[in-house]
Amino acid sequence: MKRLEIGIAGAGIGGLALGAACAQAGHRVRLFDQFDAPAPVGSGLVVQPVGQDVLERLGAGPAAMALGNRIHRMLGHDARHGRPVLDVSYDAPGQPRFGLAMHRSALFQVLLDAALSAGAELVASAQVTGLEGRCFTMGARREGPFDLLVDASGAGSCLSPMKPRALAYGALWATVDWPDTDLPVNELRQCYRRANRMLGVLPIGQLAGGSRPKAAIFWSLPATAYPDWQAQGLPAWKAEAEGLWPDFAPFAAQITDPAQMVMARYAHGTLARPWAGDVVFIGDAAHRASPQLGQGANMALLDAWALACALREARGDVALAVSWYGQARRWHVRAYQLMSWLFTPQYQSDSVVLPWLRDAVLFPVSVRGPVPRILTRLVCGDLLPPVAE
Ligand SMILES: Cc1cc2nc3c(=O)[nH]c(=O)nc-3n(C[C@H](O)[C@H](O)[C@H](O)COP(=O)(O)OP(=O)(O)OC[C@H]3O[C@@H](n4cnc5c(N)ncnc54)[C@H](O)[C@@H]3O)c2cc1C
Repeated sequence: MKRLEIGIAGAGIGGLALGAACAQAGHRVRLFDQFDAPAPVGSGLVVQPVGQDVLERLGAGPAAMALGNRIHRMLGHDARHGRPVLDVSYDAPGQPRFGLAMHRSALFQVLLDAALSAGAELVASAQVTGLEGRCFTMGARREGPFDLLVDASGAGSCLSPMKPRALAYGALWATVDWPDTDLPVNELRQCYRRANRMLGVLPIGQLAGGSRPKAAIFWSLPATAYPDWQAQGLPAWKAEAEGLWPDFAPFAAQITDPAQMVMARYAHGTLARPWAGDVVFIGDAAHRASPQLGQGANMALLDAWALACALREARGDVALAVSWYGQARRWHVRAYQLMSWLFTPQYQSDSVVLPWLRDAVLFPVSVRGPVPRILTRLVCGDLLPPVAE
């Protein structure tokens, strides 16, 4: 097979997965990232079974399993009466699957190890600012030419033509130690008051190099309300959170500085075609959604795997591989983007009707007949084939 020169902008989840897969296939891979050095940034995410498959194929599965924490169930309750309003279990009959909750930096580390050990090169302090023919530009600097240019620079991509729509709500996230608590260590727990308050606890296992189990905590907030939250002060926030959900108290108690809570703003958008001219887009540069369905990292892993497979099948014909990649991911991406768009306002919005519909109609339906199995597959990421043949 022809050995390709592959340039990837962004050494995040998608970029590193693609870098690992392509280097393992014998291509020469250079990854450019704006960070000066890899650092443990971010908080918790869930690698769903479809994403775990990709990690396995890259040889990164065992390391990810050792750091992450298995989630078997997602349970959400209403703050006012304590009754469940979301209950999705991974263990569909005959398919004992689980979500692998991880700190983003732990996932980053196992993918970085896979990419570097396969021979990919990581160039740090390299902020891609544009394209010139088959080269990346970084201000006055040029890198290339490459046979394949990939934009994996995530939500802030300067190369992607996507025009995402900002969502009304984001969330504050923090990573804390897993405290002495009655909450189960294998469940994602959430608490809601209508859709304008949502708080949650995700047990995420360990950081790379760490030994203590951690939790990611989140507090839903209108995207414009962060200054108000800061002005309100931690004691008032903790009192409100604990009033809504007493079990949240030992997690919130570990927040002693507002800067521990990092505001994440969400947006929604999908490229009609994940390539343009000489560059192909993967991950958040190709599609963005709220994390409500827990699919962001998985979509990036699947994109990376689909593109690597297309390159292998097309035997070095880059144009053919890129169009096969677009076809392979087309319907899976669209379906999940649509479902994320439909689900998000039920959990994060100012609507009164949608959370009522969620609790009074959708939840009772969600625990009957075949619906739990459909929801399990939705969350696992394979309601549709993730990479179409
Ligand atoms: C710092 C950070 C923290 C995050 N924390 C969380 C989290 O806590 N929970 C969660 O669910 N998701 C988090 N995400 C998002 C999540 O990782 C992504 O949604 C998902 O993994 C999609 O992966 P991706 O490869 O498309 O993008 P990302 O994983 O976001 O990777 C993009 C990479 O591109 C680099 N980059 C950006 N612009 C440029 C540029 N111009 N030139 C060169 N490099 C560039 C970034 O530094 C980053 O390393 C975070 C993303 C980042 C960048």
